[in-house]
Amino acid sequence: MNTGRWASNAQNNFFTRLGSILPNLKGEVMRTSSLSLLQDPMVVVLAAGHGGSDSGATNPPHNERDQAITITNRAAALLQRRNVDVEIAPHDEDTDKSIVWVNRNFSFGDAWVLELHRDSADGLDLDDASRRCGIYYGTSERSKDVGEFVRRSLLLHGAHSQSWARPDTASRFGRLGWIRQTRPAAHLLELGFMQGKNDDAHLSWLAEVAASAIFEAFTGRSWNL
Ligand SMILES: [Zn+2]
Repeated sequence: MNTGRWASNAQNNFFTRLGSILPNLKGEVMRTSSLSLLQDPMVVVLAAGHGGSDSGATNPPHNERDQAITITNRAAALLQRRNVDVEIAPHDEDTDKSIVWVNRNFSFGDAWVLELHRDSADGLDLDDASRRCGIYYGTSERSKDVGEFVRRSLLLHGAHSQSWARPDTASRFGRLGWIRQTRPAAHLLELGFMQGKNDDAHLSWLAEVAASAIFEAFTGRSWNL
């Protein structure tokens, strides 16, 4: 039996790798992300998937665009409450216009940009459809590192065990414009399925799961500490 400080549970090991927490003079917390892609960016940019006249997946009366907007606004508020600098891409713009907006305002190294979606598929049981989340990453190893970190963090915060991290080449489209065409580091989250729970409390839960994972990847700190 090992009772030393390095014998803590898996969650503690996950964070002891990430370094210490040092408050600076402004009362904010210095970021200690171990993820090289996220060490320079100072801002998290969130965009709701779809938007404008593109409503995304539907499960009447619910549509993905409106739920993604709700989740994005709530996740942003949760992150801002933890002193993370968050910008939200305009909700009236579809993905193509959001990409233009991102590239007009941010460059590589400025920001970490994430587009938030709801997934859609038939045949899943309710719990799986409600809680299975995923993240698409880009072609670099550094982007994959972020994706794998976020997947582990999603799982720690209650996402379904089938939650995944995949390259955008494994997406239905073979590549994702949000990831390939934006200048900053970019990932895309899928937060539960439209065929799962759609009530307001569940959307809040998904927002907190997403915010937790984004926070932990971006700051190197545990959401629960
Ligand atoms: Zn979508």
